[in-house]
Amino acid sequence: MSLQACSKCGKRAFYYRSYSGEYLCEGCFITSIYENVKNTIRKYNMIAYGDRVVVGVSGGKDSLSLLYILGKFYSKTNEIIAVTLDEGIAGYREEGLEIARDLAQKLGLRHVVYTYKDLYGYPIDEIQGIRGKVSSCTICGVFRRRGLDVAARDLGANVVATAHNLDDVLQSYIITLINGDMERLLSYNPAVEESSAFGLRKVHPFLHIYEKELAMFAMLKGFRLQEAVCPYMNQGIRSEIRTYLNRLEERHPGIKHQLLNSFMKLSSERRAAGSGQFCERCGWPSRGRLCQVCSFIDYLSRQENKKA
Ligand SMILES: [Zn+2]
Ligand SMILES: [Zn+2]
Repeated sequence: MSLQACSKCGKRAFYYRSYSGEYLCEGCFITSIYENVKNTIRKYNMIAYGDRVVVGVSGGKDSLSLLYILGKFYSKTNEIIAVTLDEGIAGYREEGLEIARDLAQKLGLRHVVYTYKDLYGYPIDEIQGIRGKVSSCTICGVFRRRGLDVAARDLGANVVATAHNLDDVLQSYIITLINGDMERLLSYNPAVEESSAFGLRKVHPFLHIYEKELAMFAMLKGFRLQEAVCPYMNQGIRSEIRTYLNRLEERHPGIKHQLLNSFMKLSSERRAAGSGQFCERCGWPSRGRLCQVCSFIDYLSRQENKKA
């Protein structure tokens, strides 16, 4: 490790940020993450004075960091509520729940838990025999997004913040591109998704931060990190894209930022405020007659009946 001086304050640097050419000491690195988040929130009007904000906290490094930063800088002007979704995965969720609860408590924030069992009747452990070819992650992802919406509605919040970082967002863009889902590609706004229901704003304050730097931030802050790994995790092509993008970034520092900008230009062209359509069963916004959540619940119950 070099003994280079911090480009900002002259103290001993611990990190070279290749995309900006800066050497940073621990203190200046942490400050730079705070500034990045505050700038992103300001730039896209993610959180306004008085908004009530639900933060999705799984107990992983990214969501803990998000809860910490929002708690630190926004809890005087906004009510910040931590929400953890319990997917119903024995031996996995307990640890994350405890970590999330502890951090919320330390920050003096309210922490609320919702279970898939109560929300949908199908804990993830119980769909394993009936999910057919659909992956757990696909169903879980749809259930998670809706779970946070429901939490926000119940808790009277108008903002849902989640910890998607630059890497997550790029992976999603590329997967959407590969799948040829042009409608989504052209309407996807990774900064702020306005939901046509209930005036909800879904925001991603880590949009401009690399996953690697969030891991460093969490380490420097000494967060207790979850060790258990989801037993159903199947990242498929996502992890290959992740590796590929990291290799590109290594050789061409800053290319991830550039790629994000290009993708965002594409999607700003036609950012429909949702289709204005609603699910005829649950009343939530939907692209078709039935929303994805209701479609999956139907699917699971059909599969279950087939077995019975
Ligand atoms: Zn410094
Ligand atoms: Zn529905």
